[in-house]
Amino acid sequence: MSGSGESERLLVVEDETHLAAGLKLNLEMEGFLVDVAETARGAAQFLARPYAYAAIVLDVMLPDLDGFDLCKKLRVAGNYTPVIMLTARSAPDDRVRGLEAGADDYLVKPFELRELLARIRSLLRRRRWEDVEAQGIGTSATLRFGATLVDFDSQKVTVGGKALRLTRLELELLRYFAEHPDRVLDRDELLENVWHLRNYPNTRTVDNFVLRLRKYFEPDPSRPVHFLAVRGSGYRFCPVPAQPSDS
Ligand code: CA
Repeated sequence: MSGSGESERLLVVEDETHLAAGLKLNLEMEGFLVDVAETARGAAQFLARPYAYAAIVLDVMLPDLDGFDLCKKLRVAGNYTPVIMLTARSAPDDRVRGLEAGADDYLVKPFELRELLARIRSLLRRRRWEDVEAQGIGTSATLRFGATLVDFDSQKVTVGGKALRLTRLELELLRYFAEHPDRVLDRDELLENVWHLRNYPNTRTVDNFVLRLRKYFEPDPSRPVHFLAVRGSGYRFCPVPAQPSDS
């Protein structure tokens, strides 16, 4: 679907009619096909059609369901279309909420159209790049630990032969751990390198994601042997099972 020459289809989910119309017009001028939904329900109807959307531009404040919940629902349903969230609120908390909901990027209203275009292009580029890697042209990167096998190129993850689907951020966190085995990584380092959040204070984001990785990969998530907490610092990834930690 990312072939050259063929227009890529975007879904804009935005209930402010003027803004939605302006986005549609401008994105169409850039060569995209654009559908607009004004509610989460409308978005679900578009997403049920047999198109592949290249990306979804998703407003946080919708009349029926908030954008975070819609994004979460998509991910739970196995839809991994790249999502850019739009919000009027500039609280860094919202950025984290969006990313935790499985969004790929985040833009604060009011924003410049060219900024949105740049973000969309970057998402599409990244996806194409991942496609190229998935075809085996890129370097191979495989991680094995316990019963887990991860192929970062094709994003295939299996535990004991059973396939799992991870979100992009879950995979990126796992990749960062895999690149730094047996080393204590503090939360700031993880936030900066995986979430690209610098000097972000006091967050449970990292802990929440580590809990998810434990749930996927630890034989007993309550007694982790691979993703160990290091008191007062952060986490240590041990490909070879370590002594269970206390949290
Ligand atoms: Ca809105």
